[in-house]
Amino acid sequence: MIECPWQCLEKIPELGQTLSCLKGIGPKRSRLLAKRGLHTVLDLLYFFPVQYEDRTRSLDIGRAEDRDQAWVSGTVVNARENLFPGSRKRLFRVVIEDDTGRIDLVWFHYRKPHLLTVAAKGSSLLAFGRIQVKGRQKQMIHPQILPHDPGNKKKHLGINPVYPPLEGIPQRTISAMVREALRLYGDSIQDPLPPSIRQSGAFMDLPCALRQIHLPPPQSPVQELNAGRTPGHIRLQFDLAFKIMLNLLFRKAVRKQRQIPSLKVPPDLKVQFEKFLPFSLTQGQHTAIRDILHDFRAPYPMSRLIQGDVGCGKTVVAALAAYVAVHNKKQAAFMAPTQVLAAQHRDFFRDFSSDAGFKPALLTSALTVTERKKIYREIETGRVNVIIGTQALLQEALSFSDLGLVIIDEQHRFGVNQRALLDRKGNQPHLLIMSATPIPRTLGMTLYGDMDISTIRDLPAGRLPVVTRLVGKRSKVKVFQFLKRRLQAGQQALVVCPVIDAAEDQDMKNAKEMAEKLRALLGLLYRVELIHGRLPSAVKDKIMEEFRSGRINVLVSTTVIEVGVHVPNATVMIIEQPDRFGLAQLHQLRGRIGRGPIQGVCILMLPAHITDRAKQRLEILTRSNDGFEIAQKDLEMRGQGETLGTRQAGLGERDLMNAFENPVLLMAAREEAGKIVREDPGLTQRSHRPLRDLLEPEWKKPLEI
Ligand code: ADP
Ligand code: MG
Repeated sequence: MIECPWQCLEKIPELGQTLSCLKGIGPKRSRLLAKRGLHTVLDLLYFFPVQYEDRTRSLDIGRAEDRDQAWVSGTVVNARENLFPGSRKRLFRVVIEDDTGRIDLVWFHYRKPHLLTVAAKGSSLLAFGRIQVKGRQKQMIHPQILPHDPGNKKKHLGINPVYPPLEGIPQRTISAMVREALRLYGDSIQDPLPPSIRQSGAFMDLPCALRQIHLPPPQSPVQELNAGRTPGHIRLQFDLAFKIMLNLLFRKAVRKQRQIPSLKVPPDLKVQFEKFLPFSLTQGQHTAIRDILHDFRAPYPMSRLIQGDVGCGKTVVAALAAYVAVHNKKQAAFMAPTQVLAAQHRDFFRDFSSDAGFKPALLTSALTVTERKKIYREIETGRVNVIIGTQALLQEALSFSDLGLVIIDEQHRFGVNQRALLDRKGNQPHLLIMSATPIPRTLGMTLYGDMDISTIRDLPAGRLPVVTRLVGKRSKVKVFQFLKRRLQAGQQALVVCPVIDAAEDQDMKNAKEMAEKLRALLGLLYRVELIHGRLPSAVKDKIMEEFRSGRINVLVSTTVIEVGVHVPNATVMIIEQPDRFGLAQLHQLRGRIGRGPIQGVCILMLPAHITDRAKQRLEILTRSNDGFEIAQKDLEMRGQGETLGTRQAGLGERDLMNAFENPVLLMAAREEAGKIVREDPGLTQRSHRPLRDLLEPEWKKPLEI
C-alpha cells in the first residue's frame, strides 16, 4: 500500500469518511481493514492491486490445454466430498461437462455447504483457473466458480485485479468494496496536481487514473497493467517522483538561502595539511578538496557527496574537511556504518601528528555507561573535536559544543532520514557524504538530488589493481595450493559464500560448512574463523578486529565484509558461486583485498553449471577495475527485460523504485518541480497551494515565514 501524498484530498468530506459508510462494511470488517491502515475512503482508493489476472478467455473444455488459464463452463454431473481413508484429509470434487468434454474442479480447502449449493448436480457453472491435463483427465485446482447465467454471457469476462491479501476479507469482497467506493465517491476527487503540470506531461487526471488501476476495462493490455505502465500507473508514479523531487529541490534552495558565517580557509591551509601526509594526493583527491574548500567559503552550508571507488582515498579528503573545521574551532562528527570502520577511522585521526590539532573520540554503542558519560561530557565541553562513531552519534542525549561539520561514510547503509537527523544536531553544519557505491545517474538525481557531487576517478599511484580470475571446479586443488602458499608467506585470506547455512538455501555454498572444511584442512597451522550477519555485532566486531590485527588467517564470511574495512595484509579472496552476486557487489568485495603493496588476487569459483551469459558477465570483472564502468556494464547486460520479468507489478514500494528506473518520468518530475521552486517558492499561487501537501514538515516551516 502506498500513502496518498495529497492530504488535501483527505479533507474532502466524502473521501475522508470512515469506511463503514460503504455497504457491507460493519464494525468487524472496519477493524480488519484498520489493521492494514485502511481507515478512510481515500485509503481504500489508494490500496492498489499488486497484479492483474487476465480473465478474458473462455474455452471449450475439449480444447483446453495444459497450463491454459481460462474460463470453462458446463453442467455439473457430479459433486461430492472424498475422504482419504486413514487420514483426516479430504477434498471436494465437482465434475462438469460441456459438448466437447469433461473437467474436474478440485478443492482441498472449501466450505462444503457453499459448494453443495452453487455446484448442485444439474446446475450450470462457470469456472476460472489454470487447467492441468494429465493423460485424458483435465482438472482445475481451487478454481473460482460462478453460477452460469445464460442471459448474460459476457459479464464474467474481464481483467481481474488481485489485491494484497487482507486477513479475513476475500479478494472478491475487496474488489467489490473498491468498486463501490469509486462508484459513490470517485467524482468527489478533485485532482490536486496543477493543470499546467498535468498538461505538459500529458498525465491522466487522478480520478481516471484510479479508475484505470482498480477497474481496468476488459480490453486493456494485461502486460502493461502488470508492468505498471498504463497511463494510470504512470500518473501515480509521477505523483511520487514529483513529491520527492519537489522536496529535494526545496532542500537545495533552502540550504542555499541559509546564511551562515563561512569558514576561514587561509590560502596555505591545504599545503599545511598535506605536510602531515606520508604520500602526495591524487588528482581526484585534489579536485574533491578544491570543491570542498570552495563550499566552505560560501555563506551557506555545504552538502556534498564524494563518490569514488573503493581504495581511492576518500578518508583523507574527509580528514581535510575536518581539519578546516577544527581550525575554525568547530567540531566534526564522523559517522561510519560499523564499529570496526569507526575504530579504523579513529586510528587514522589519532595517527596524525598532534600539530594537526585533531582530538579524536570514539563513540560506539559498545561503551559502558560511565565511559559514555565521560565522552559525552568531553564532546559537550569541546575537549574533543573529531567525534567518530556509528549510529550512536544520533543519540538524543548527545549534544555538541559547536558542531560545524558532519561526515557520513558509506552512505548507502544509512537512510536519508538519518542524514537529516544529524543535520539538526548542529547549527546548520556542513555535510559531507562519502560513498563507494557507483550511483547510476538517475538514482543520483533522486537520492542525492539536493547535493553537489564530486567524483574521484583515479587510484593512488603504485597501487596494484586486484587480479581477478575465473576458475572452474577442476582447478580447485590448485586454488587451495595457492591459498596455502600465500598463508605460508604470512598473508591473510577471505573466503566469501552466498549464504550462511544450508537452512537458508540447500543449493548454495554455505559459509558454515566452508569454515568447517577449511578448519579441517588448515586448522593445525592457521586460524580459520567464520563471520556472518546473524552474529551479534559485538562478536562480529571482535572477529573483524582480530582479522585486522592478523590473529585470524582465514576469514570465511558472507557479504558482511562488503564495506570499507582496511586490512592491507589480506591479499587473497575466494568467492564461491560468484554468479549469485551483482557485479558491483563483487567489485566492492574484492576491494577488501590488495590494499597493501602485495598483489591482491580475487578468485571467482565458477559453479559446474553456469550459463554463458553469466560467465560473460563475470568476465567483465577480469577486464576492468573501474567501479563505474562495471556498474554501467552490469546494468546494460542485465537490461530492462530481466528487471521487469522478476518483479511483481502494481504500485507497491518496489514500483516506486520502478519510477526511479524510469529516467523520462524522473526528468519530467525534476523539471516541473524546478520550475515551481524557481517561480513560486512560497507556493502562494492558487493552483500551487495543494503542492504544500507534498512537502516534508521541515520545508513547510520556511515557507510560512
Ligand atoms: P576509500 O576511498 O575506500 O575510503 P581509504 O581512504 O580507506 O579508501 O584509502 C585506502 C588506502 O589508501 C589507505 O591506506 C590510505 O592511507 C591510502 N591512500 C589514500 N590516498 C593516498 C594517496 N594519495 N597515495 C597513496 N596512498 C593513499
Ligand atoms: Mg572508506
